[in-house]
Amino acid sequence: MTLRQDQHDARLLIVGPPGAGKGTQAARLSATYGIPDISTGDIFRANIKKETPLGVQVKAIIDSGDYVSDELTNALVKSRLEEEDAREGFLLDGYPRTPEQVSYLDELLASKGQALDAVVQLVADQDAVVARLRKRAIEQGRTDDTEEAIRHRQEVYARETMPLIAVYRDRGLLVEVDGLGDMDVVAERIADALAARGITADESGATTALDAPPVESA
Ligand code: AMP
Repeated sequence: MTLRQDQHDARLLIVGPPGAGKGTQAARLSATYGIPDISTGDIFRANIKKETPLGVQVKAIIDSGDYVSDELTNALVKSRLEEEDAREGFLLDGYPRTPEQVSYLDELLASKGQALDAVVQLVADQDAVVARLRKRAIEQGRTDDTEEAIRHRQEVYARETMPLIAVYRDRGLLVEVDGLGDMDVVAERIADALAARGITADESGATTALDAPPVESA
């Protein structure tokens, strides 16, 4: 469909601790709203699998549960957002994860005259998350899902990424959703919370986020 001039596809982030069901909900959001699901973790893993120079460079870091450098990660996201399918809207999953990445994304979007419409935060209990991750490790054979690496990733997330959520809350962009429970129910919670902010999917899958004046940051 043709979007009105004051409309564009949604520009969203999804955040949550490792194992909160982020990947599953990101895929659902991508399909529902007709926007590409851009997962930095998936892009890194695909590079590792293909043994590209980037993959070789980041494998040990990712297996240990630490973060890839901001420099490499920012460059990856910049080039991905330049692809045609991400011009009108996107869902970033697993990025930004550090204050430097937040600033980089702000500047990158501002340089294109764009801004985020909402940040979906999946909230989930730590123990439930560990159980879910162990199950996924067995099902998907993820080499970075040893128990030690899971715990380490949770610590890194709590230390590095949790503080960023406050930044988006202060900007009035945060949409908090209970991530525990049936995936359809969680997807519905997200859709309801986004609809309450005027972000809806129509029958063609296109979103109708209205361009609004930027929210003053606190
Ligand atoms: P994920 O699938 O999002 O949990 O990401 C898996 C791993 O990829 C993380 O534990 C990090 O090592 C790396 N990674 C993914 N996204 C980022 C990011 N934005 N910044 C730094 N490292 C990342």
